[in-house]
Amino acid sequence: MTAVVKSVLTIVSILVLCGPSVALAQDDAPKQILFTNVNVFDGFADELAMDTDVLVEGNHIVEVGQNISAPDATVIDGGGRTLTPGLIDMHTHVTFETNQGTNGFNFYDFGGAGAMAAQALRDNMLMRGITTGRDIAGNSRGIARLIQQGQLIGPRLYTSGGVLSATGGHGDFGGPTDTIHNMDYGMLVEQSYIVDGRDDVIESSRRNFRNGAHFTKIMAGGGVASLYDPLEIYAATQEEIEAAVEIASEYGTYVAIHAYNDQSYKRSLDAGVRSFEHGFLVTEKTVKRMARMDQDIAWSFQCYMSVATFGDYDSMPDFFTHEQKLKGVAVGKGARNAAAMMLEHDVFMVGGSDMFSPAYGPRMKEDITCRVNMVNYPEAHALKMSTGNAGIVLKWSKVLDPYPTYHLGRIAPDSYADILLWEGNPLENIDLILDESKLHLVMKDGVVYKDIM
Ligand SMILES: [Zn+2]
Repeated sequence: MTAVVKSVLTIVSILVLCGPSVALAQDDAPKQILFTNVNVFDGFADELAMDTDVLVEGNHIVEVGQNISAPDATVIDGGGRTLTPGLIDMHTHVTFETNQGTNGFNFYDFGGAGAMAAQALRDNMLMRGITTGRDIAGNSRGIARLIQQGQLIGPRLYTSGGVLSATGGHGDFGGPTDTIHNMDYGMLVEQSYIVDGRDDVIESSRRNFRNGAHFTKIMAGGGVASLYDPLEIYAATQEEIEAAVEIASEYGTYVAIHAYNDQSYKRSLDAGVRSFEHGFLVTEKTVKRMARMDQDIAWSFQCYMSVATFGDYDSMPDFFTHEQKLKGVAVGKGARNAAAMMLEHDVFMVGGSDMFSPAYGPRMKEDITCRVNMVNYPEAHALKMSTGNAGIVLKWSKVLDPYPTYHLGRIAPDSYADILLWEGNPLENIDLILDESKLHLVMKDGVVYKDIM
């Protein structure tokens, strides 16, 4: 072969190799969307940034400011609407959506639980502006992965996978006379793991992580919606909680606990737990300790289910037994007190509804309005708990973070383009977030799912 032929062939191969990819690069240039004339709640600030522009490129925000120049961008004129981050619910149970709540997967089967989850994730969450959820007990590992891969329409989902619970603890769905564990259907499908001792905790944690959990949840105290556990019990030994933290730390992630009572909170703080759910019976001394830890830990508040639903025997879910309702009354009494102490001492906090089933699932945002209307949190604070602060806690999953590239829950450069447009200002009237006709646009990952502008 002559040198000329060789070089011609080389040029042809370069053209063949480069041609399509050059064309692809042009077609795939990330599309830009420019929101103009919007008033921005950035996820943290107490007030809106007025008359602002937000530039989205592909699936993330690249610029926030005034008079942004982006000649190739598709322009969405916000017309003075309020632009906020997509809402984040930090305490969901997406596989418990049937009428029977936590018992539903026993009455139906896990296929039914999955179908209900898919419907609720789309209709109750994404289409209502909740663009991210944290499933904090339940085997939604596959569902989270399907959403991540774009095979299911729903909010981003972070999941603990099956919850770790002692025999007779808040995650023991078995019968009172069961002598063999994991014969209960909920346990067979890994909604929960019965762990008694350090070795059980290690094995169950690793099984969860093997199949895609993003953090660990362990029941470290008694609960309301369970049959065998008084609120006052520890439900997990110091050694068991430490083992959960040890394995989670190996995977670069964190542990969340369920507990109401003070002694369980103290034990978990000692063990290195970072996310504290409920906690409505804690003492001020413990609250002060949590405040000193700043953003090393977070308190996760379920306002609606504790203040509005619990506390009043007759307003509790019909599927609760008499004993469960009595425990709910005790929790409800403590919740207002805990909410006030956490705010007063400036504990780093997030919010999650714990609201599921056809009766409560469509009303998840009432957990946010509850913080303003029933425990007197400022509007911006109530929203921050479900946007900016929540985004910080989700990043604690570190190497297991399914959405690791950008921030979540904020309107700022290098944040995922999860964006809502509202008619009106929720910082002045929080109740408007419950009116779906006021939610004019829902964008997740740069894709518009609702647009009634
Ligand atoms: Zn819960």
